[in-house]
Amino acid sequence: MVGANNIASKNVQAKLVILGDMGTGKTSMILRFVKGQFFDFQESTIGAAFFTQVVSINNTTVKFDIWDTAGQERYHSLAPMYYRAAAAAIVVYDINTMSSFQKAKKWIEELQRQGNPDTIMVLVANKADMITKREVDPEEAKQYAKENGLKYFETSAKTAQNIQELFYEIATEVAQAAPSPSMPSGMKLQSETQERRKKLFCCNT
Ligand code: GDP
Ligand code: MG
Repeated sequence: MVGANNIASKNVQAKLVILGDMGTGKTSMILRFVKGQFFDFQESTIGAAFFTQVVSINNTTVKFDIWDTAGQERYHSLAPMYYRAAAAAIVVYDINTMSSFQKAKKWIEELQRQGNPDTIMVLVANKADMITKREVDPEEAKQYAKENGLKYFETSAKTAQNIQELFYEIATEVAQAAPSPSMPSGMKLQSETQERRKKLFCCNT
């Protein structure tokens, strides 16, 4: 489809995985984004759960297939199945629990070692509404994110702070990274990169 501004529109399907310690608010963040809901007593996720949501950015429609993983160690071996083909990975910690920040760093290391180099990675500090109990220094987290080339967001699934912004930022990056149908052949990415990206950002026009 070609719009009035002569730029072809894109439809991108992107797999998104959310990782992090149990209780950090992964399911709550997704429910806030997908359904606009929040529960003070959110049931823990067993194995993994699946959600979808569509976001429109300029001339691109991004359909997220979201895999919500369980944070418990006994489900750890399932994680590669979700992150290996993920266009984006959100790694969440709870600003009130230092151990969840340590765990987030472990996830980042695992993604850097075993994940796909094209996966967009975001570090998310959740429960920002509970600021009085903060254990993790935001400056330290920001510094860590910077050193590792990650985007960093402070969110609250409870108050909805930065939740839309987080997913829209990811959608924007996904839209930019997806091969464009209108790209002249001379401008095409090197074939190897192109092939790798096609697997992550499957495109139909
Ligand atoms: P998950 O195990 O990472 O999926 O975490 P859940 O989404 O199940 O949330 C664990 C608990 O933290 C639940 O009681 C939620 O209500 C609560 N929670 C999640 N996000 C927030 C938040 O941003 N602020 C506050 N105050 N509580 C939250
Ligand atoms: Mg959960």
